[in-house]
Amino acid sequence: MTTGQRRPPLHLWWLLGGTFAVVAYYLLPLAGASPAGQGAWYCVISSGSAAAVLAGQRMHRPQARAAWWLLGAGQIMFTTGDIAYTVITTNDPSASYPVVANLFYLAQYPLVAAALALLIRRRSTGNNATTFIDAGTVATGATLLWWTYLIQPIVTAPGVSTADRFAATAYPVMDLAVLAVALRLVLGGGRHTTSFHLLTGFLTLTLLADTAYGLQTLLGEFVNGSWLDALWLAGYVLLGAAALHPSMRRIDEPGPVNTESISRWRLGLLTAAVMVVPAVLVVEHLRGSRTNLLIIAAACTVLFLLVLARMAGLVSAQRQLAITDELTGLHTRRFLQERLEAPPPRPRRDGETGLLIVDVDHFKQVNDTYGHPAGDRVLIEVARRLEQACRRDDVIARFGGEEFAILAADVSRTELHELAERVRHSIVAQPVPVTTGVELTVTVSLGGATTPRVIPGSDELVRVADAALYAAKNAGRDRVVLGHPPAAPLPG
Ligand code: GH3
Ligand code: MG
Ligand code: MG
Repeated sequence: MTTGQRRPPLHLWWLLGGTFAVVAYYLLPLAGASPAGQGAWYCVISSGSAAAVLAGQRMHRPQARAAWWLLGAGQIMFTTGDIAYTVITTNDPSASYPVVANLFYLAQYPLVAAALALLIRRRSTGNNATTFIDAGTVATGATLLWWTYLIQPIVTAPGVSTADRFAATAYPVMDLAVLAVALRLVLGGGRHTTSFHLLTGFLTLTLLADTAYGLQTLLGEFVNGSWLDALWLAGYVLLGAAALHPSMRRIDEPGPVNTESISRWRLGLLTAAVMVVPAVLVVEHLRGSRTNLLIIAAACTVLFLLVLARMAGLVSAQRQLAITDELTGLHTRRFLQERLEAPPPRPRRDGETGLLIVDVDHFKQVNDTYGHPAGDRVLIEVARRLEQACRRDDVIARFGGEEFAILAADVSRTELHELAERVRHSIVAQPVPVTTGVELTVTVSLGGATTPRVIPGSDELVRVADAALYAAKNAGRDRVVLGHPPAAPLPG
C-alpha cells in the first residue's frame, strides 16, 4: 500500500530512545537510585522491546506473522524473567540462580529458535546442502569451544548445587542450539534487509552476553549492573528496531544461495571454525589437560567430513559450470568431447556413433541488422528447438558461437539423417521473434557423420562432420550433408 505520506522513521526514534535508556541505566546509581530502581529500569527497557515487537507486527503486517509472534513471545519471556529476577534478587541478594526467573529466561530460547526456523523455511530456495554444511562447520567449532571452556567446567565444578549446575549448563546449551539455527539463517539464502541485520545484531549481542555471563559465573566474577547488562539491553533495543523497521514485512523474502563460490568473509569464518580444533588442542596440551581428548577427536572428525562434503559440492558446482553453456543452457564442447571419447555404458543395439554439426545460416546478418541481443535470442531459440527435436539420450552442445553439435549414440546412418532433417525442419518451420514486432525465418546447415568406433584422441569424426557442413554451406545452405569417415580406423 502506498499512501504517498512520509512515515516518521520510527525505528530511528526507537534506536535513539533505546540508546538514551541504556545510558540512563548506568547513570541511575550515580543519581542515587537503589539497585531495585535500576533493576526496574532494566525491566522497562526489556518490556519496551516486547511492546515494540508487537507494535511492529500491527503496523507493518508482515508476511511471516508466526515468526514475529514467536519473537514477540520470546521477548515477553525475557521480560517476565527480568521482572522475576529483579523482584527475587531485590528480596534476597544471595539468590544466584532464581529458579522462576531461569524458567522464563530458558523458555525464550526455543521460541526464538522456532521463529528463526520458520524464517529459514520461508527464505530458502533450491539446494540448501551448502548452507547446512557451513552452518554445521561453524556450529561444530563453537560447540567444541563452548564445551571445553564453559560447559564442561561448569558440569564438573566442585561445590555447586544440582539446581545451580543445571541452570548454568542450560544457558550455553540453549545458546549453542540457537546459534546453530541462527547460522543456518544467516548463511542461507534470502534478502539481507535492514530488519534482518538488526535481528542478527540482537542474536549476536544476546549470544555474547550469555557467553560472558557464563564465564563470569564460572570465575565467580558476576555482579549485577556491570557492563554485561549493556549487551543484553542493546540486544533488546535492536530486536525492537528490527520489528519497527518497515523491511520487517519482507524479512522472509527468499533468495538463492551461491553454491559456486565462497565469499571472503565466509571463507574466513569457516577457517576460524576449523582452526578451533588445533587451537584447543594446543591450549589443552599447554594446560596439561587430557580431559577433552575424545571430544576434540570427535569435533575434528565431524569437521573433516564437513570440509570434504563442502569440497565435493564446490567441485561439482565448478564442473557443472564448465559443462554448461551460459547463454543457452546446453552442454559445452568440452562435455561433448568427453562423451564422444567415453560414452556411458548402455545396452547396445548395433548402431554407430553419430555426430551432427549445426550452423546457423547468415547469422552475422542478424547481429549486424538487429544487434547482438537479437542474435542471442535466436541462439537461445535454436537451442530450445534442438532440444525438442532430439532424443533424450542425445548430447546437445554449443560447439562455438553460432554452431551446435549433436552426439547421437547407437544410431544408423539413416537414423542420423532423419534426426538431422527433423532438426532442420523444426528450425525453419516457425519464424523466431528477434525484437519487438520482428520475426525472422532462421535456417541452419547440418554436416554429419557416423563411425562404428570412436578412437580416443582422434578428431576424425568431428573433422568429417565439419567437412560435410562446409559442403552443405557451399551447396546453398538450409540442408543436410553426411560425410564418410575412412572405412578403417586410422592408427593412433
Ligand atoms: P554462414 O551462413 O556462412 O554460417 O554465415 P554466418 O554469418 O552465420 O557465419 P560467420 O562465421 O560469418 O558469423 C558468425 C557470427 O556469429 C559472428 C559472431 O559475431 C557471431 N556470434 C558468435 N557468438 C555469438 C554470440 O554468443 N551471440 C551473438 N549474438 N553472436 C555471436
Ligand atoms: Mg559458423
Ligand atoms: Mg553461420
